[in-house]
Amino acid sequence: MRILVVYAHPDDESFGPAAVLAKYAREGAKIFGLIATRGEHGSTDLQPRPTPRELGQLREQDLRAAAAIIGFTHLDILNYTDGTLETVPTNELMEQILDAIRRYHPEVIITFGPGGITRHPDHLAIHRAVTAAFTRALAEGLGVCALYYDAVPPERAREMGLEGLPDGQPNTFIDVTETYPVKIAALRVHGRHIVDAREMADRLEREPQTVATLYRAWPKVKPGERLTGIHFS
Ligand SMILES: [Zn+2]
Repeated sequence: MRILVVYAHPDDESFGPAAVLAKYAREGAKIFGLIATRGEHGSTDLQPRPTPRELGQLREQDLRAAAAIIGFTHLDILNYTDGTLETVPTNELMEQILDAIRRYHPEVIITFGPGGITRHPDHLAIHRAVTAAFTRALAEGLGVCALYYDAVPPERAREMGLEGLPDGQPNTFIDVTETYPVKIAALRVHGRHIVDAREMADRLEREPQTVATLYRAWPKVKPGERLTGIHFS
């Protein structure tokens, strides 16, 4: 299986499907990453505060280290400016994603849902562009079979304001007992420089989540049906 994950910032992959990716990588899947920015405007508590350029370099190193821990086969970083993706034409982003699809021939694509989990404008821009690219790739017969969105368990959806969105209505529940520690390790790498990642790693150690949740947007899933892995036949 070949999986392409597309996100806005270094650490989105670790907050998101890291444990699922690690599970499938260990079963032989090839994992390709496309990250649009270096996250140079993320919240850091480094003193003295690095310049955006310096923080972007640190976060690229962190991303590559986290990707290695998770088991990525390859990772591409685009040169967009953190915080500006909503000003980039969707077609331009879509073409970059289509290029990656033509290069890596994924069957499965994983990205943000329409709520972007946190509603960050960069996340929403990535959601729109990836969904458009997937639709185009299906129409052009580029070999894509399934599109998945990040989704939180329903009990978290309410506190995150994601009720009613795919982001809060997972239909795929994957046992990640074996690779859950990989997600925490990847978050710890980002946590060297980014406060949120450190806090998330602490939280996941206190409250383990050994079932990872995703929303399969394509092929469509019947209401109430629960999938237990990445399937697309
Ligand atoms: Zn992000």
